[in-house]
Amino acid sequence: MNEPKTLAANQKRAEAFLDRFARATVPHFINGERTLSVSRETFDTLDPTTNTKQCTVASGHAADVAKAAQAAADAFRIWRDISGTKRRAILHAIADAIEARSDEIALVESSDTGQPIRYMAKAALRGAENFRFYADRAPGAADGLSLPDDDHLNYTMRQPIGPVGVITPWNTPFMLSTWKIAPALAAGCTVVHKPAEWSPLSAVILTEIMDTVIRANGGPAGVVNLVHGLGESAGKALTEHDAIKAVAFVGETTTGSHIMRQGAATLKRVHFELGGKNPVIVFDDADLKRALDAVLFMIYSLNGERCTSSSRALVQKSIYTEFAAKAADRVAAIKVGHPLDPATEIGPLIHPRHAEKVLSYPQLARDAGATIAVGGGRACGGAGNYVEPTLFTNAANDMRIAQEEIFGPVLTMIPFADEAEATKIANDVRYGLTGYIWTRDVGRAHRVARDLEAGMIWVNSENVRHLPTPFGGVKQSGIGRDGGDYSFDFYMETKNIAIAYDSHKIPRVGA
Ligand code: NAD
Repeated sequence: MNEPKTLAANQKRAEAFLDRFARATVPHFINGERTLSVSRETFDTLDPTTNTKQCTVASGHAADVAKAAQAAADAFRIWRDISGTKRRAILHAIADAIEARSDEIALVESSDTGQPIRYMAKAALRGAENFRFYADRAPGAADGLSLPDDDHLNYTMRQPIGPVGVITPWNTPFMLSTWKIAPALAAGCTVVHKPAEWSPLSAVILTEIMDTVIRANGGPAGVVNLVHGLGESAGKALTEHDAIKAVAFVGETTTGSHIMRQGAATLKRVHFELGGKNPVIVFDDADLKRALDAVLFMIYSLNGERCTSSSRALVQKSIYTEFAAKAADRVAAIKVGHPLDPATEIGPLIHPRHAEKVLSYPQLARDAGATIAVGGGRACGGAGNYVEPTLFTNAANDMRIAQEEIFGPVLTMIPFADEAEATKIANDVRYGLTGYIWTRDVGRAHRVARDLEAGMIWVNSENVRHLPTPFGGVKQSGIGRDGGDYSFDFYMETKNIAIAYDSHKIPRVGA
């Protein structure tokens, strides 16, 4: 996105980009064609700033998913044989096209989700980066090992698993979709994507871009297909379809267990990126200024609707009062406002139902005996899903505010006495996505990093993604890893081929 414009200028441009979505039912995209549901059913999406209708969207069911899965299966027979070098060129061309439309993507995404434009501008470009990263790995995706023994040369190769289902959530849909789809295409898989029903629009732009580029480069229709709809209909049908060989899912933990059940009959391979209640541990020897910046950034950016948010701050007792007071001053100064205003730090939450869920926690905090140091109510008056950035202090780890994923701009701050207690509190939760450690003691940083039950740890840092590294959670935060070569292990099958040296003796039977 170019330099931030004013709210009025951004609104005008967003309106122009949204116009086509507002004027007619947003269709599925199956086998290269825009199509309505077989049932002709639709659902509406809401503008999170007003909760008035933003769009009407085709609502898919099993019949629509079946058409998309068939298209993906047909296209797979062609796409899998396109060379890795050619796929590299195609994925780079997709990245070019994303960059060329990044303003549009950012403005549409911000309007659809309520996420502040300051973050969505970067999210669009991160989507392009995901394509470039996997573009460069496409030629080597099939690489294997040579494992000779005395009698045979064994070698392995990887082959794409087949058509895959990608199911994504509403919080930062564009970035997350590219994170899943880019490695799938690089591996040689074809895709049926079911985006979240609360924010389906950027997926439309992404599918248009991918399909146009793939076909302009000689690829078939049906490599990428998009089916809108509710989780319990379109999503469920996708996870149950026999032609779909694997499901990459990002969303809530409970939905993950539904998908596992739904996919059992067809033995679906699954990859889950689920919820989190991530601890950020601040020891009294840390660089407290930087620690405070990171603690606040990781929960009050992206509306707090991020799986890797530092939603539990564990702060050593010796510095707790001062740290909490400084945090409270900063939280009170956070600017809540229209998502298209470049000055806005927190926009409206995506949906009235989600805002209600988030706003139920202040009462739980009060009842449990925690302190509501800042916020706890609605912001900006009037309509829309605006909530105040909220800070709970003097909390204990067994309170619901410390155990449940609130998924909003709400931080729960808990005191701890020493390293052992910090580790115990950090691990005493059903999730295990990320952990953040702030200390100047190198030995302690290594010890706590080793002992935290989480898939990813950052020391003296906020969450910064490096695409070759493994991304994923333990416990109820997920199954499997994305990133680097890890994604190919999910989207591909490893085959072993054994060639005999003719010197070896074959055991004789019947002789
Ligand atoms: P959700 O689980 O409600 O929905 C996610 C997707 O699953 C949607 O497209 C939905 O339609 C679909 N779905 C729902 N029920 C289904 C079913 N029975 N079968 C198939 N599909 C179904 O999640 P959400 O509320 O959209 O997103 C928020 C959640 O996502 C949070 O828990 C957050 O932590 C998680 N998340 C995790 C990561 C990660 O990397 N670990 C990243 C972003 C978000």
